[in-house]
Amino acid sequence: MPQLIFLGPPGSGKGTQANLLKRHYDYRHLSTGDLLRAEITNKSSLGLKVQDIMAKGNLVSDEIVIELLEGQCNLSQGKYIFDGFPRTSVQAQMLNARVIKNAKCLAIEFKIQIDVLLERIVNRRSCPTCSSIYNVIFRPSKDGINCDTCKVPLIHREDDRPEVVRNRIQVYQDNIKPVLDFYATLGILRHVDGMDAGESVFENIKKMFA
Ligand code: AMP
Repeated sequence: MPQLIFLGPPGSGKGTQANLLKRHYDYRHLSTGDLLRAEITNKSSLGLKVQDIMAKGNLVSDEIVIELLEGQCNLSQGKYIFDGFPRTSVQAQMLNARVIKNAKCLAIEFKIQIDVLLERIVNRRSCPTCSSIYNVIFRPSKDGINCDTCKVPLIHREDDRPEVVRNRIQVYQDNIKPVLDFYATLGILRHVDGMDAGESVFENIKKMFA
């Protein structure tokens, strides 16, 4: 099984696919967004440092994100889904040196029309415990309030508000091109259509493993 790098704007389906994959295969889901949110919840000094940046939808510095990631896992061991990392060339270089050079790896870009993202994200609800993702219209939880698995109340992320989402999409577009070009040059860039239903995106990703 390859190491997987998920690239795509917020709301393009990366988290949903990561949750499906880790349920079916022996992957660890590494979402830098989740790691950062945990620091904020724990009120750590790092959390306090990044809180305002994240609330505005801007990028946290490369140094902070890289240090956090390295502290959380042994990148030379295990099968990972990198979700929301790398977001800049510096991060891509770090991942290349630590993981890609030594392991089979696929970078999967979730392509999606930008105008549908806003609607998706504004209706998105997340589980603060297991990061499962729901949508109040298209995929509500069974009782509409709690996570089906963890039974804890779902949250609407603060940075899922429309004005912040617009900035997050812009920030993604401003930074991602060199990262995509880098993986295209390495020959490991693949694409999925983020407009497709989740099950069909999942089938397409599985075909890439063959
Ligand atoms: P996400 O959960 O991936 O949408 O990330 C939420 C927020 O966390 C982003 O808007 C950034 O503020 C921050 N963040 C997550 N991953 C990164 C990263 N790789 N580099 C910089 N900032 C990040």
